[in-house]
Amino acid sequence: MDKKGRLVVISGFSGAGKGTVSRALVDKYGYSLSISATTRDPREGELNGREYFFKTEADFLKLIDYNGFIEYARYVDHYYGTPRQFVESELAAGHVVILEIEVQGAMKVKEQYPDAILLFITAPSVEVLKNRLVGRGTESPRIVEKRMRRAAEEAEDIDKYEYIVCNEEGRLEECMDTIHSIIESEACRISCRRDFIESLRCGLKDYI
Ligand code: 5GP
Repeated sequence: MDKKGRLVVISGFSGAGKGTVSRALVDKYGYSLSISATTRDPREGELNGREYFFKTEADFLKLIDYNGFIEYARYVDHYYGTPRQFVESELAAGHVVILEIEVQGAMKVKEQYPDAILLFITAPSVEVLKNRLVGRGTESPRIVEKRMRRAAEEAEDIDKYEYIVCNEEGRLEECMDTIHSIIESEACRISCRRDFIESLRCGLKDYI
């Protein structure tokens, strides 16, 4: 069967564990992960080109002008964007590409790539979510509050997604396997198998 490239958008509240889940999916299933550009400062342990491409605001705005992003958005005082070139070449090579982005970006991706699969990852409860953000220790209390407020706004947008997956403590494998089976099932949609169906019909023509 023909293998088509596919975008998988993973969104979720800050602290839901999207980053861990996305990287684990790459390691276990060989999916490609898009590295975003951002104007926020690197957190301790983050490397330029690994977690993000860290940009000045001027450079980020230039990239917008050059049509360098398939989408970009502002999130809690900073810009974040998905570089176009990597996504386009990975899709052309038939790979599944994971975009770990927030809701405004997810909607822009769906407009341009209607086949994109939209997943929302959440912690099992608001309490666990806040504990994870505080426990991470990378954010000041003011930023934790801002991110919780943003989560409240994002909760209003969950209906715009196609799937919701819970990332429970100590059950990363289960979360990953659920996402993997969603991706596999989506690949069997009739609408995603047009070329294959055409080849079957073509081969069967002589029997009509
Ligand atoms: P953080 O600062 O915690 O790394 O990311 C903040 C938010 O920005 C997260 O919800 C993350 O998914 C989102 N984000 C990261 N990269 C992108 C991107 O390229 N585009 C958009 N729209 N959001 C992004």
